Amino acid sequence: MLKAIIFGAPGAGKGTYASRLQTKLGVDVISMGDIFRELVKEKSELSSKVKSYMEKGALVPDDVVVEVLKAHLAKISKGKGFILDGFPRTLEQAKKLDTITKIDVIMQLIVPDWIIIERLSTRRICKNCGTVYNVKFLKPKVEGVCDKCEGPLYQRSDDNPETIKNRLKVYQEQTSPLIAFYKEKKVPFIELETKTLDQPPDLMVEKLLAELKKRNLA
Ligand code: ADP
Ligand code: ZN
Repeated sequence: MLKAIIFGAPGAGKGTYASRLQTKLGVDVISMGDIFRELVKEKSELSSKVKSYMEKGALVPDDVVVEVLKAHLAKISKGKGFILDGFPRTLEQAKKLDTITKIDVIMQLIVPDWIIIERLSTRRICKNCGTVYNVKFLKPKVEGVCDKCEGPLYQRSDDNPETIKNRLKVYQEQTSPLIAFYKEKKVPFIELETKTLDQPPDLMVEKLLAELKKRNLA
């Protein structure tokens, strides 16, 4: 039973690879970003609070995030593995996670900033099923339409240059220190580096799968 974290900067490909691994491995994916994007569609005090952070590219406060995570972990069927995408993002969240569950492996996506900026500003997402596309590097067959479900594609409101810059800064300051935290705890790492803009996702996923198999985790 796989208990993994997929780790990396915004736009590193966490969601894209995690959703493909989900199908191949039959595990659940908990995507914090997706959960919050659903949450802000509601009308509630919590949702307007969360929205104000997301719009700025800032992190939602740890106490809120941890509660949401716990609720979702509890919903996973017994014996089913999971991949965490977008959690933990702060040292506080990582320490909390430690008290909740053990982690087998961290899949660390290493991507230079210039690729991230280029990718995020041209990213499109299916409104129905969440599949990620890119108008330059990962085009749908028909412009503006999802290959899988024919749903409409949209651009995330935080995928604009100003907010992207802030999300990268937040990643550098608050999230990247987690690498040292987990290395110190001797949690195994799978490092996967992206060097070009046209890296096909399926190839990257094959590499991740091969590394998981080597470790008897897939
Ligand atoms: P990204 O593409 O930046 O990785 P996500 O879709 O994972 O974006 O998350 C979008 C936004 O949701 C973040 O910028 C942040 O405001 C909020 N968020 C997601 N996960 C967390 C978390 N673990 N802690 C705090 N805020 C989070
Ligand atoms: Zn779709």
